[in-house]
Amino acid sequence: MSTLEQESGASELTPQLAVATYENRLIEVRLGIASSLIAALRQKHAPAASHSLRVALGCSSWAFSVGLPNRERDELEVAALLHDLGKIGAPDRLLLKPGPLDLDEGRLMDQYRLSGLDILAHCCPQPSIVEIIRHAAAWFDGTRTGYPLVGKDIPGGARMLAIVDAFDSMTTDQVYRPALSRERALHELFEHAGTQFDPELVKSFSELNIGAHLHQQVISHWLKTLDPRKANQFWNNTPQPLVTAAQPADGLFQQKLFDNMFDAVIFVDCNQQIVRWNRGAERLTGLSSESVLHHGWETDLIGMRGEQNERLLGTDCPVSYCISSGVQSLRRLRVRSGEKSITVDVHTVPVVGPDGTTHGAAMLLHDASPQASLEEKCNNLHERATKDPLTQVANRAEFDRMHHLFVGAHLECNVPCSLIICDLDHFKSINDTYGHQAGDEALKAFAQVLKSECRSGDVVARYGGEEFVVLCANCNNSAATQRAEHLRRLISELPLAVLDGKALTASFGVTEVQPGDTPDSMLRRADRALLEAKRVGRNTVIQLGDGLIKPGATRDDVSLEGQRAGELMIERVLITSVPLTMAVEKLRGFVLDHHAEILGIKADRIDLLIDASEQQPTRRRSDRPVPFLVQMQFAEERITIRNASGLPSARTLRTRVLVSIRLNRTRDRRNAEIMLQASAILAAVQSYLMATPETTTQEEGTSRRSVNMLAPWLKLRS
Ligand code: GH3
Ligand code: MG
Ligand code: MG
Repeated sequence: MSTLEQESGASELTPQLAVATYENRLIEVRLGIASSLIAALRQKHAPAASHSLRVALGCSSWAFSVGLPNRERDELEVAALLHDLGKIGAPDRLLLKPGPLDLDEGRLMDQYRLSGLDILAHCCPQPSIVEIIRHAAAWFDGTRTGYPLVGKDIPGGARMLAIVDAFDSMTTDQVYRPALSRERALHELFEHAGTQFDPELVKSFSELNIGAHLHQQVISHWLKTLDPRKANQFWNNTPQPLVTAAQPADGLFQQKLFDNMFDAVIFVDCNQQIVRWNRGAERLTGLSSESVLHHGWETDLIGMRGEQNERLLGTDCPVSYCISSGVQSLRRLRVRSGEKSITVDVHTVPVVGPDGTTHGAAMLLHDASPQASLEEKCNNLHERATKDPLTQVANRAEFDRMHHLFVGAHLECNVPCSLIICDLDHFKSINDTYGHQAGDEALKAFAQVLKSECRSGDVVARYGGEEFVVLCANCNNSAATQRAEHLRRLISELPLAVLDGKALTASFGVTEVQPGDTPDSMLRRADRALLEAKRVGRNTVIQLGDGLIKPGATRDDVSLEGQRAGELMIERVLITSVPLTMAVEKLRGFVLDHHAEILGIKADRIDLLIDASEQQPTRRRSDRPVPFLVQMQFAEERITIRNASGLPSARTLRTRVLVSIRLNRTRDRRNAEIMLQASAILAAVQSYLMATPETTTQEEGTSRRSVNMLAPWLKLRS
């Protein structure tokens, strides 16, 4: 019979019952009425109750030998007895599992251990006891999730309990493994000193020859000196708030999410140490959590690079940036995944405590390679569809699309935009002299010059062959002409090796968008300017058109009624300060650029049919065409110019044009829209003729004569 049994007076019972009886007796003297808690634990899992008693005796022996004050020793004994109370709620499949618990089961067990605090909260008013139990599972280096205290901040009792608890577990047979020797168990404690355990306490514990002898001293002390009534001092049924009420479930949910996320999650503390590495991170990087946990974080660890494979130095690293700035970031980067490098979206958030201290950074990496390769494919396709393969500037189709948008948007906002069209001079002879290959190189060089002089918002395109266009955003006639002149000079002064050091020349046509323009009318005007530049000798810039001037017609000028076929919508007198022949020449440009159909020419009058659906860049495709009849009656006037004192000084010719616009067939809806289209046509006529609306006062000295229009218009029609 053991001394323990003799002391407890349990000698007449069966050995098993006798052990339980004297254990209970000891527990009673120590815990008073709270010994019922251990009785409940014994009912659930007897080894846990015995283990608790042994741990309490071990803690107490150690406390005696190091001279811990009585009060602290008492609290440590009670905490040790109750540290496994949560196992009352643990399922048997965990308690009786014949093998070691897996990661999930271990965490679940941890939650049950913490739920022991809830049980205690109902009867234990001693916060220090609760705190010892709460922190006994913390790691000394602070790396165990859910345990915020580090090192000596962890209560001393908790650090001692952690060591005795581990030692007793190791030196006792368990369902999942036989007991280790005392030496082996001490070796394990030293192995984990500094990380899991307090190294000084491990040393102190190892010097203690813990065993039956020491336990006996404690047992004698408990039985002889502890008064069971006094033991009740710790217990009180003051209702306490639940300590961990929602915590186990919450923590469990978080853990489940963390472990089962497909994305990689990495936690890095403010010392740049990796403290969490989930399975997603293992899968993405191919690195196991064991190999990286508690190692320093650096981008090279996972081959983290910028999108263009550039190294991330200093605060380019999302973790360093996040910790130093306290600001979250979302970036597309590359990381090594096994043998290859993949694209990832990296979201890094700072982990900041309630007091504002930064504890580190949490980083989530999402494999974006499928998305990135799809984007790349789309980009390649888009490039193939929109770029000229030889010169790498936009192709004709892209130019048409952009030109349409440019004209619509600039007209809508009444902001100027211009078009430069240029064509290499005598390029055929370049090919003939230097070969097609050299010609290709020259085309590339020319496109490069155009591109390098581009401003943001501009578009350079190869219109075809050796002809290029530049759409100049927010740029009027004069600025565009200057830019064309600059380009002309640059190219004419650029020696090309493929042409034996000779330079090319090019001719340029320039025009600004003007009221009533369509992409087509604008392009035709620019093309006419280019032809003119070729005609006058090449290597030249010619500008045509007036640009954005205020439309001559407003809503006040016209009636919103009368939209039946043939009824007059707008009638207006325009004055252009050029002779009739020149006015007719300008009208020719209008007719050509607007695809106007000439219905008839009678003496001084011309009738045109214009389809507004072709004119409006912003019109919807589903709109039916709106045909307008535009009549213009011309008269040449001779006016007297007077000097400052009002005396006649010269006489000059100008042209007066009466413009009337009608609908060609009945419309039943969108009156306002049709009026705007008619106004735009009037504005275009005004621009092309460089005319202004006639003022009401009749100028003195004006003589008017109607003219025979037939002759000049016959020229136009041929
Ligand atoms: P101009 O000054 O009147 O514009 O004379 P030009 O010789 O440049 O005009 P023309 O239209 O007679 O000839 C254009 C030449 O451009 C003919 C064609 O072979 C050449 N060309 C068109 N596209 C390419 C190309 O992609 N590469 C090469 N090398 N030559 C091209
Ligand atoms: Mg040419
Ligand atoms: Mg050409």
